[in-house]
This record gives sequence, C-alpha cells and structure tokens, in this order.
Amino acid sequence: MLTNVSNKKVLVRVDFNVPINSDHQITDDTRIQKALPTIKQLLDGNAAVILMSHLGRPQKKKLENGEIDVKKFSLKQVVPHLSTLLGIDVKFAADCGGDESILKARDLKVGEVLVIENTRFNPGESKGDSDFAAKLAHLGDAYINDAFGTAHRAHASTATIASFFEPQDRSFGLLMETEIANAKSILNSPKRPCTAIFGGAKVSDKIKLIERFINFADNIVIGGGMAYTFIKAQEGSIGNSLVEDDYLDLAKDLIAKAKEYDVNLIIPEDSVIADNFAADANTQTVLSSEIPDGWMGLDVGPKAIEKINAAILGAKSIIWNGPLGVFEMEAFSTGTMTVADTVAKASQNGAYSLIGGGDSVAAINKSGNADKVSFISTGGGAMLEFLEGKQLPGIVAIEGDKA
Ligand code: AMP
Repeated sequence: MLTNVSNKKVLVRVDFNVPINSDHQITDDTRIQKALPTIKQLLDGNAAVILMSHLGRPQKKKLENGEIDVKKFSLKQVVPHLSTLLGIDVKFAADCGGDESILKARDLKVGEVLVIENTRFNPGESKGDSDFAAKLAHLGDAYINDAFGTAHRAHASTATIASFFEPQDRSFGLLMETEIANAKSILNSPKRPCTAIFGGAKVSDKIKLIERFINFADNIVIGGGMAYTFIKAQEGSIGNSLVEDDYLDLAKDLIAKAKEYDVNLIIPEDSVIADNFAADANTQTVLSSEIPDGWMGLDVGPKAIEKINAAILGAKSIIWNGPLGVFEMEAFSTGTMTVADTVAKASQNGAYSLIGGGDSVAAINKSGNADKVSFISTGGGAMLEFLEGKQLPGIVAIEGDKA
C-alpha cells in the first residue's frame, strides 16, 4: 500500500455496502471493520482521507417517481458508526464528485475523514464512465482501492479512476493486498494435499472453478444442488433434485478428467432427501443415485460427510466455496455446518484454509468458527472470479494486466 501519503488527500474506494434495516441501523458492520486498517494507516501517515463506496443498487430500485431513494441508499447512514469506530467526527458530502464534495474535499485537513455519497447515485458508475471517474479523481492526490468485493466490476470508482493517477500514486489497500495474497497462495503454491470443497445451487456457476482446481487439487468435494447433475451424469436416479441437463456432458468430462489427473472427486454417495422444498418436509436418507420420484436431495448424507471430513482432515490446504445443502433450513444444514466445524478443526491442526462466498462465510460465522480458520474472504463474486483465473478490472487497473 502507498506509504508516502503525508499531507496528501487520499481517495480510497472502500466497500461499505453493508446491510441496513428500515430503522437505518447497520445489521452487520464486517465490511466497515475490514476497511479500518487502511483508513487508520493513512491517518497515522498524516493523510486526509476521502472515502467512496457504493451501497445497494439505487439505480435499479428507484422510487415510483423515478427518483433515487436517497433515504434508503445514502451512505450518510454509515457515517455515525464510522465516526464511533474511528473515534473522530467523520464528515459527509451529499454528492459524489459534485460541488459539495469538491468543496469539502478541498477543505479537508490532515487527520480528517470525508465520506462522499453513494457512487451508484451517478449512472456513470456502473458504466465505468470516464467523465465521472475524472470528477472523482479530481478530489484526491492519490488513489487506493480497498474494495475487493467489487474488484470484478469495471466501474468508474473501482477501475476507470485508476488511470487518472500515476502508478506511484495508486495502490491497493491493506484488505485488497491480503485478499490477493491469500487467493494467490492457494492458486500458485498450495500446500499438499489440497482439498477443495465446492457447493451451491448451480454447476454452471462453478464449472470454471472446478476445471481449474482439477489441475492441482488432491481432493475435490462437489456438494449442494450441483452434485445431482454429476450423479445424473453417472446414470443415477435423482428424483426431483436440482439438475442442469445442459451440463450433463460437461459433468461427465469433469469426472473423466479427475480420473485422468488422479484427483479424488468426492460426489456425495448418500443424501438427505425431502418430499418438498420446505423446512418441515418429510425427510429420509438414501443413496444419492436412488432418489425416488417426487423427492429431492437437499443435503449430503452421513456416509458422504464421513468421506468429506476425511478429505478435509487429511489436507494441508483447504478452499471452501458454497454450501453443501440448503443450509438456510435447519433440517438440511448438517452437511454445511459439519464442514464448517471440520475446516476449523483442520485449521487448528495446522492446515491453511480459505473460505470464500457469502453462504460459506455465513456458515463459518454461524458455527462460531470464524476465528479458527486461516482466511475469510470479503469478496464473494470477486474471489470466485479471481480463483477461476479471470483478470479482475479493479486489480488490473492498479497493477497492469499481469495480475
Ligand atoms: P450458490 O448461490 O450457487 O452458491 O448457491 C447457494 C444456494 O444453494 C443456497 O441458497 C442453498 O440453499 C442452495 N442449495 C444448496 N444445496 C442445494 C440443494 N441440494 N438443492 C437446492 N438448492 C441447494
């Protein structure tokens, strides 16, 4: 991160896209907490700090009269809490790149923090508009991107803006640096054996990830709804389980490739099935390849959990993305919560673990194991794309196209 910031106005793109309830209370401040080290380091380095972020999707959720719902989406809502966390009176400008932010940025002194209004209030933000980016860039002498969660978006404040600063005046923030270092560590030099656990609803969302990890992982666990496409591809009867028929051939190819590369592909051999997609459905445990019509697999079964646990406990590095079942419903949360516990246990025994993706992170937090794993990513989609090998616009903009 930039160190020579004394007497500079440093423009920092943070991710303050936090959940806020109808009483304007922040219900989870994790993202704000994660941005604090960068802000504090800049203040310690004698900088004046200008923070910009998006919050929600104000352009998609406009009021009936076509105006932006300022009350709901204003970043002003995070200012009191940020002031408390930093122990200073954080200032706010009610526009982004307009007259008020220009004046307030100009008057900002060393040691002070200014939050400008939600960048997505300007339609140019999501379009990566150069004029809007130039207006934002004008507010500061240097630019830091610490919003890993939006690094996969080529938006004005996350990507376009960087080109208005010389390479020596732009950098990642501490959070971005940590996210990138952790993702690179598992991609470039994973400790072996390496176990990857992929879950979630759709194979189509995780195909690239699976393809990439087949090249070097020792064990790959396929859980969640997407497992049933693999089971059907092996001629199993999956009843009414989730399936993507367009991906059956691809699933077959992946199974063959795993064999060829000597990767232990763990497709759950048994499942907890339900006669309805509901918390109070009737349930039973059966082989995943023998699911009767009218029933659907909603969680991995005990035999599968045994194999998955062994693969996790035997690993020196672990990556986990996506739930193994419909963990939002208690009856189908055992697989996911067991994985959360086992990954924590393996980490305590010395394995490196990276947890990415909103649902896996929620499960780790819910299980009380957040402080026992090695790294929890703040970037769901961004981490997924980075691990898939995509070049993220927010990263490329800072460091060139060698990321
Ligand atoms: P994704 O967004 O693709 O990571 O998927 C997350 C969602 O997948 C969660 O909301 C889970 O409830 C859902 N899910 C996990 N396992 C299953 C399953 N066996 N059938 C249907 N949905 C599932």
